[in-house]
Amino acid sequence: MAGKKELDALVAAAKKARANAYSPYSKVKIGAAVLTSSGEIYTGANIENASYGLSCCAERTAIFKAVSEGARKIVAIAVVGKSEDFTKPCGACRQVMVEFNPKMKVLRRGVDGFSEDGTAGSLLPEHFKPDELARG
Ligand code: ZN
Repeated sequence: MAGKKELDALVAAAKKARANAYSPYSKVKIGAAVLTSSGEIYTGANIENASYGLSCCAERTAIFKAVSEGARKIVAIAVVGKSEDFTKPCGACRQVMVEFNPKMKVLRRGVDGFSEDGTAGSLLPEHFKPDELARG
C-alpha cells in the first residue's frame, strides 16, 4: 500500500507533468501521474489534436505509458488541474482506470487548493469488468 510520502510524490509528479500539456485549442492543462504496484511513477499530460476526437486525456496518457512499459497493476493516480472541474476524469478514463485496478486510489488536486480522494471503482460504480467478457 502506498504511504503518504509516495502519494505526495505522485501529486508533485502530476503537477510537474501538467506543464507539458499540449492544448493549443482549449488552453486547458491537466497533469496526471500513476504509481504502479512495483513502485514506479509514470506521468502524462493532455494532448489535443486539430481533429478534436483524436485528443487524449492526461490520465490515459499516463496509464498507457505505464502499461506499455510492462505495468499491469496501478495502485494510485493523481490528476491535477486548475480547479475541481478540471480534475474530473471523463468516462473513458474511468473505464481505463478500473481495467487496471478498481481499487486504484484517485487523488484529484486543483492548483486552487481543491483536494479530493476517491477510488476508480467509486467513480464508475457500474463499470464493465474484464471477467464479464469471459461470460459473454
Ligand atoms: Zn479522460
